[in-house]
Amino acid sequence: MKNYIWIANHVKKYWNYALLNILFNLLAVVFNVVSLTLVIPFLGLLFGTQPLVEVKPVFDYSVTSITDSFYYLLSQVIINEGRVQALMWICFLVVILFFLKNMFRYLGMYFVAPIRNGVVKDMRQEVFDKILVLPLSFFSEEKKGDIIARTTNDLSEIEWTILSSIEAIFRDPFAIIFFLATLFYMSPDLTVFVLVLLPLTGLIIGRIGRSLKKAAAQGQEKMGILISMIEETLSGLRIIQAFNAESFSRKKFASTNQTFNVLMNKMYRKRDLASPLSEFLGAIVLVVVMYFGGRLVLGGTGELDPSVFIGFIAIFSQIINPAKSFAQAFYNVQKGIASADRVLEILNAEQKIIEKPNALAKPSFDLAIKYENVQFAYGNAPVLKGINLDIRKGQTIALVGQSGAGKTTMADLLPRFYDPISGTIKIDGIPITDIKLADLRSLMGIVNQESILFNDTVFNNIAFGMTNVTEEQVKAAAEIANAHEFIDKMEKGYFTNIGDRGGKLSGGQRQRLSIARAVLKNPPILILDEATSALDSESERLVQDAIQNLMKNRTSLVIAHRLSTVQHADCIVVMHEGNIAEMGTHDELLSMNGVYKNLYQKQYFN
Ligand code: ADP
Ligand code: MG
Repeated sequence: MKNYIWIANHVKKYWNYALLNILFNLLAVVFNVVSLTLVIPFLGLLFGTQPLVEVKPVFDYSVTSITDSFYYLLSQVIINEGRVQALMWICFLVVILFFLKNMFRYLGMYFVAPIRNGVVKDMRQEVFDKILVLPLSFFSEEKKGDIIARTTNDLSEIEWTILSSIEAIFRDPFAIIFFLATLFYMSPDLTVFVLVLLPLTGLIIGRIGRSLKKAAAQGQEKMGILISMIEETLSGLRIIQAFNAESFSRKKFASTNQTFNVLMNKMYRKRDLASPLSEFLGAIVLVVVMYFGGRLVLGGTGELDPSVFIGFIAIFSQIINPAKSFAQAFYNVQKGIASADRVLEILNAEQKIIEKPNALAKPSFDLAIKYENVQFAYGNAPVLKGINLDIRKGQTIALVGQSGAGKTTMADLLPRFYDPISGTIKIDGIPITDIKLADLRSLMGIVNQESILFNDTVFNNIAFGMTNVTEEQVKAAAEIANAHEFIDKMEKGYFTNIGDRGGKLSGGQRQRLSIARAVLKNPPILILDEATSALDSESERLVQDAIQNLMKNRTSLVIAHRLSTVQHADCIVVMHEGNIAEMGTHDELLSMNGVYKNLYQKQYFN
């Protein structure tokens, strides 16, 4: 139910278009019915049974007075100009009425377009906005491709199933009711048959609809897996080719692709049942009506005039179409709701990192960062087991230790990518959970092992997320980061596109761009997570220089793999299995003869 409300809420915004759509659809239905009722006088003329109305009826806007007036006018034409001329008039009238009907039908559709596209646009934006604020942990648990599938494929599924059915949902019930009312007016007896048989038909159709939704959900899930595979393959193509794993990848993809194919066949077959099934059921109703109506006519008691009966059949046959398209729309909606559920899962995902409503502004960093008994776990296994650490302003603190010891995790807690399970982190005595998230993150610059760059120009990558940045400022930042020289040599300088994730650059160049970005941001606190460990020693030297420039006059938390790069830190913190094992300067730690010395000797003598 929640999913229907969600969709309805999005459609609500476009109520004015919906109203116009309903209005024009109603007009189209009215003109359709009126044009079809003309078959009655047409047959009357042909068979010579058309009664001549010679007295001008009183006009009072009732259906009877309108038909009577029409018959009076027609009678005048027959009397004055002959039957053939009257036939001409009717044909002419039918053309005009059909033109109007289709014009209104088009106008109805004309106003559906903005609803359909607008709703999808709004939903897409909503999902994207949500992705931006979701905690990082969400993405390590969900497959990236599945999320992409939900934001693209599932949304277009909603568009093509639910929103393309909106018209039918607005139009068809009105049409059916209007047709039924007309039929009832023409012959209440015969209409009773219709009224009994239609709900029965609806029941049968509803049954199949339910199983369709389940199949659709499975299909969308498989689609998510497929997109995941494509995404992984795109980013891992180098390794796939290097390890001759093409056929492995191909088989893996082919098997999921095949399962998807089988599922989809099943689903389309179910979905496509809607239209023929309802047409067939409609035909049965029609035959029943024809049989009983025919008996009334043949009875010759004058209960039912043959031309009225044929008019009745003509209008009844028009119910079949909206009933059919309504059944189809119903099935489509069932299919689309499965996708809506998947999109809603993202939108309803818990936003674990929440800014308190009365969060404090914190424009500057003045004294110290303090970890107080901080514990953390991704799942059940503890990753940080009670960390206590003081970082005073201006200090350089190095985090070293085996891989998996919890260094990255410890650094990630500072900008609140995750929140600790217990314990607090304070900046200048204020718990970071009390600080405005944007303010907190403005205090920090982060350079990771893998430089995160975007498919954009050098300029935009350095000035990322900042407004009103001049070319001079970017250039100055690049110079500090040892990057200006290579940027200058590029084809369009600062306006060269660097390709997907900076694919057109070397690792060292990418890293220097990340550093330039941090320089430009000019944050008081720096977090460097193995910023040089992915580099060869030549580029490491360049990057290391850049880092030295960057660290001047700042407080830094440096995670280092190579101990040689952090020997001069004010304090080296040795992490071991989620605990701080030792702490001190390089010389102090060496003299302790502990974990650090062990690590150092291993690296030194390698
Ligand atoms: P380090 O940076 O010291 O190498 P990390 O902080 O990255 O260590 O990881 C510490 C532990 O947490 C490791 O055992 C790792 O397997 C686990 N871990 C890291 N990131 C995640 C994650 N996103 N989800 C689950 N476990 C994780
Ligand atoms: Mg790490």
